[in-house]
Parts: sequence; C-alpha cells; structure tokens
Amino acid sequence: MANSNPVMVQAGDDYVRIFDTTLRDGEQAPGCTMNVEEKLAIARQLERLNVDIIEAGFAASSPGDFESVRRIAETLTGPTVLSLSRTREEDVDQALRAVEKAAHPGIHIFIATSDIHLKYKLLMTREDVLNASTWAVTRARQHLDYIEFSCEDASRTDWDFMAKICTEVIRAGARIINLPDTTGHSIPEEHGQMFAYMREHVEGADKVIWSAHCHNDLGLGVANSLAAVRNGARQIECTINGIGERAGNTSMEEVVMALKTRKDLMGMRTGVNTRQIYPASRLLSQIIGQPVPPNKPIVGDNAFAHEAGIHQDGVLKNKLTYEIMKPEDIGIPSNKLVLGKHSGRHGFINRLKELGVDADTIDIQKAFAAFKELCDKKKIVYDDDILALANEESRKTGDFFELVDLKVTSSTKTTPHAEVTMRVEGAERTADATGDGMVDACYKAIYKLTELNPTLERYSVKGITGGTDALGEVSCLVREDGMTVAGQGAHSDIVTASALALVNALNRLKTRAQAPARRPSEGP
Ligand SMILES: [Zn+2]
Repeated sequence: MANSNPVMVQAGDDYVRIFDTTLRDGEQAPGCTMNVEEKLAIARQLERLNVDIIEAGFAASSPGDFESVRRIAETLTGPTVLSLSRTREEDVDQALRAVEKAAHPGIHIFIATSDIHLKYKLLMTREDVLNASTWAVTRARQHLDYIEFSCEDASRTDWDFMAKICTEVIRAGARIINLPDTTGHSIPEEHGQMFAYMREHVEGADKVIWSAHCHNDLGLGVANSLAAVRNGARQIECTINGIGERAGNTSMEEVVMALKTRKDLMGMRTGVNTRQIYPASRLLSQIIGQPVPPNKPIVGDNAFAHEAGIHQDGVLKNKLTYEIMKPEDIGIPSNKLVLGKHSGRHGFINRLKELGVDADTIDIQKAFAAFKELCDKKKIVYDDDILALANEESRKTGDFFELVDLKVTSSTKTTPHAEVTMRVEGAERTADATGDGMVDACYKAIYKLTELNPTLERYSVKGITGGTDALGEVSCLVREDGMTVAGQGAHSDIVTASALALVNALNRLKTRAQAPARRPSEGP
C-alpha cells in the first residue's frame, strides 16, 4: 500500500503531531454534545489550526456520530480524519465506511488492557484481549494504512503484558501506538518511564509513532504529555479548552504553547498555527455554551492581563519582564476594537473569517443586520460581540422553536409578568406567566408554549464586553430524561438573551430526543 499520508511521512524527530479529539473525547463530556453542523464548524477551525489528526467521532456509537464523521471526512482536505472503534467487527466496518471518502482516512482501534478493566468491564482474559486486538488491526489493515491502536487505561496496565500487545498489533499493521492515561492517574515521572519502557521492550517500537493521551483528573494532563514527549512520544492527543469527561483532557492550547515557549529546553515543534488558537477557543466556548474560566492558561480573559501595579510598570517598560508569550501569537487581537457604525458588509465578513466563523454556515444578511443594529446601540463593537452575533445566527437554523416576541413587566411592588410569543413548528402562539423574577416568568411562559419542562441545572450571565450597553450572553444547562443540553443566547437585553438561551437549549433537547439513543460513553 502506498504511503501517501502526510502524517506518516517522516517529519523529523523534533516534530510532535497534534491529534485533536475535541469532537470525540471532548464531546463525550456532559453538556458538550454538538450537532453535525456545529461539529463541522469546529472541524473547519481545526483545519485552520493545522492540527495533524482529527478524531471526528465514534462512528458505531450512534447514527448521528456516523453522520458527523462521514461529513467531516468528506469536507476536510488537510488533516487525517479518523473514527474511534472498538475491536468488534461491526465497529471496525462502520468506522471504515465513515472515513471512506476522506482525503486522509484513518481508524483508531482501542481496547482496555488493565486487569481491572478486563475483570469488571470486558469480562475477558488477557489472551482474549490480545486476540481481539490483532484481529481488529488485521481487518482494518486490509482497507487502510493509517491505524492507531490504543491500550485503554494503559497507565494502570501491566507493562509486560502491554509490551506483548503492542508488539503483536505492530506486527498486524498498527502505525501509531497510543498509551492513554484514561483515568488521569499518572504522575509525570512514571508516565515518562512507561513510554521509555515500551519503546525499549516492544518489537518494532522504532517503526511506529508513540502517542500520549492524558486526562486531567490530577491537573497533570499537560505535564504527563510533555513527560511522554521527553521519552519518545511524538504525538499528543488533546482537546480545545481541555474539554472532556470529568476534569477533561490535555488542553491543546496549553500543550502547544508549552512546546513552543520552551523550545529552548524541549527542542520540539508542532505544525499548529498558533494564531488560530484564540478563535478556536472562543468558537468552541460559544458552541457548547461553556465559558472559558478567566484564569485559564493561554485563552482565559486574564491570561495576559496585568493588574498589579508593579507588574504593569514592568510590562510597560518591556513586555518581556512578565510576559513569556505574546498575545498576538495566540491570535488575541491586540486591538479588540475592530468594527463600528461605518464598517461595511465586506469588512464584517472578513472579520468573521478571521475569527474562525464559516460565512457559508450562517445567514449573513441577518447577521449583518444584527451587527448594524448593535452598532447603533453601542459605540464600540468588539470581536466577542461579533462572534456572539454570528453564533446567534448559526444557532437559529432548522429550529422547532423560535422566539418571536417578548414583553415583560416588573416593578418593586408587582409580581413579574411575561408574555411570550413563539413560533412552534411553524405556528405562532402566545402564552403568559408570572414568576419570581422577569427571567423566571419568561421561562415559565416558554415551558407552556413548548410543552417541555426540563430541570434548569445551570444559568449564567456574562457581559461579553464591558459597559451596561454590552451584549449580554446567557448560558444555560437543562436536563430532561437523563439528557443534558446547553443553550446560549446573546442580546443587548439580558431577559431576551435568557429567553434565547432557553429556546436554543430546548431546540437541542428536541433534536436529541429524536435521535436514537447513544451508547454510554466509552473510549481511551
Ligand atoms: Zn480520553
């Protein structure tokens, strides 16, 4: 088989491949579910980031997952697109079918290898696991060249048994061997030793790429990944903003910037276009409705803010006194004021592109009209405002429910009252309700109209940019029948933003409810 895959072409021993699993491992986290269009928007941004590999989903886990892997595989031309797969025949075949049309297709086969997983989850012997692994790799190898194999829960697996499995799957055709710290249990030093041991004891170790996949349960995801690289790993699996189950996965922006900033020590490089990091972080945060914590390294609002007087003085004299990275290298606009009243449609579309928004996926006409309206209300329009507008537009497509009008009355002496008009599957209806506050009244009216009554698990308001005229962004998390979905809304009026957020969440709930149930999350 010809080896044309760009990732497999020798890139030099100082090259660390970035394998992004935002759309698979990240998406498995509660409240992070995305629909196909949203996943495509993230995938396109990952392509702009120039990551090497995109794990687009777990094709066999649900028809929705299959469809998103297929669409991403067909759309992207740069990165390798792969699907996760267990060692079962139907999984492998579904994964292969989903990536069939990819410019650079791949499959990621995994099975748990730790005794605790064998005994309580798989009910398999070590021999069974070994056989299943080689069988699956052999089958995939008949169809494609790019095969990654993962020993799930590697960090709690017996090293000699793991060396044996790795030797066998390499013999069967695996090209990348991933040793995940599935439970986030490793400490950097031992994690590094595990890679060193495997590279020494596995036959054919020098013919494959070793990969690290770490979880952040002890806050060590990035540190463990770097320890793996120092011990020969040349691929890191990570997610934008570090999203993922429990405490999340290794954060892409942190690990990439650690390698870049400490090139003096590590001597490594990646292919990531770091200027796309900030747009990627914001795009994901807007799509899943999870705000980035202000103190989050690299992409948090305060990551480059110097409040303390002594720091500021130093920074003003020479930025390098306290800044180890330049905000512009991450794509944080040095001048956030970009557009205003006199900006044209062309400038608006250009800015959207720079911010990572795909103009084809939104109603530009509407977004531009909303932008002009905002310019009239506010003197200054910031990037975050524009992103919020664009996402508000992209959220509206193909909805069951649409907010048409909203009237609220409240005073310190009367009970808050809301009258809401909505289009429910095409028909316009109005309902009213009273509540503890205007938002509460409004939510009760919306529940009446949609005939849905989920539990509101989280509700948060954020002024996207400073000032009382700022665009407010509301995120909410609702749960019904064990399904958790997030919703977002942005508007200069906070009650309207709240209503939009809830309507967005209810639309998702409705779409998800129609999709066949997804298997409980599983994977390395
Ligand atoms: Zn994982």
